[in-house]
Amino acid sequence: MMLVPTHHFRDIERKPEYLQPEKCVPPPYPGPVGTMWFIRDGCGIACAVVTWFLVLYAEFVVLFVMLIPSRDYVYSVINGIVFNLLAFLALASHGRAMLTDPGAVPKGNATKEFIESLQLKPGQVVYKCPKCCSIKPDRAHHCSVCKRCIRKMDHHCPWVNNCVGENNQKYFVLFTMYIALISLHALIMVGFHFLHCFEEDWTSLLQGSGVTRAASAEARVPPQDKKQPRKVRATECSSFSPPTTVILLILLCFEGLLFLIFTSVMFGTQVHSICTDETGIEQLKKEERRWAKKTKWMNMKAVFGHPFSLGWASPFATPDQGKADPYQYVV
Ligand SMILES: [Zn+2]
Ligand SMILES: [Zn+2]
Repeated sequence: MMLVPTHHFRDIERKPEYLQPEKCVPPPYPGPVGTMWFIRDGCGIACAVVTWFLVLYAEFVVLFVMLIPSRDYVYSVINGIVFNLLAFLALASHGRAMLTDPGAVPKGNATKEFIESLQLKPGQVVYKCPKCCSIKPDRAHHCSVCKRCIRKMDHHCPWVNNCVGENNQKYFVLFTMYIALISLHALIMVGFHFLHCFEEDWTSLLQGSGVTRAASAEARVPPQDKKQPRKVRATECSSFSPPTTVILLILLCFEGLLFLIFTSVMFGTQVHSICTDETGIEQLKKEERRWAKKTKWMNMKAVFGHPFSLGWASPFATPDQGKADPYQYVV
């Protein structure tokens, strides 16, 4: 039998007399089996809607400001396919991260019958959550937004309006990865667009005269079109007026930079915490390691599924985690 040093923040939950099973009543009905998991949190729902809106805004600017007006069909088609595929995967990952039960512990299961059914040995300690009246497995934490105890809870993310835990961490990691990728892709396309389309406009602006612009525009059109140089230039670069185009592109740049930084840092942190098998909360609370140490590869497989395949990158492939008994208590 291993003696585990007590942690001050768990003291109250560790005292056997605090369990008080008689005070816990079973939930009124067996629980929402088969129903969709969705957290009814106003702030989280607003953040999730904003996320979708921002992706759709980027989608709009990329398609209607940059790619469709472009005359280079090969460039447009290739970039259009790549960007749309990444955006679709990002939104699909977001949807799955939001609608997947992150690993909720059954509410109100700290009943006398349940504790007896665990057949605890003398001296064995179980954790009980005083807030949702459940016996929580090791490494579970209570989330005040979800109002539930979540297995291997990492953090509650308002952007996906859900906790990131044992069952949906894969989708959350994919979400951060695909958002980082579309942000990078959008920034590269904006860079190319500025290089190709605004070179002359900037020069003429700096020189304070329309001579350069008119001359360069005239030089770029075939001789038969020389009567309408402006019209040709406009359709080549954007179907919007130049000021609108610049504003739309600058906003996209700002959004892309912000999200590239935010999501790539998040992605790195998540992969690190998966490899070291230590959740965000455990790192924050500097919890002592009570669980077995495994290799980085084994930890990755535990989250993304066995064995390694293309399914790791797909938000539609539910990871086969080969779960251990969730009620493994510390002895
Ligand atoms: Zn709880
Ligand atoms: Zn939560």
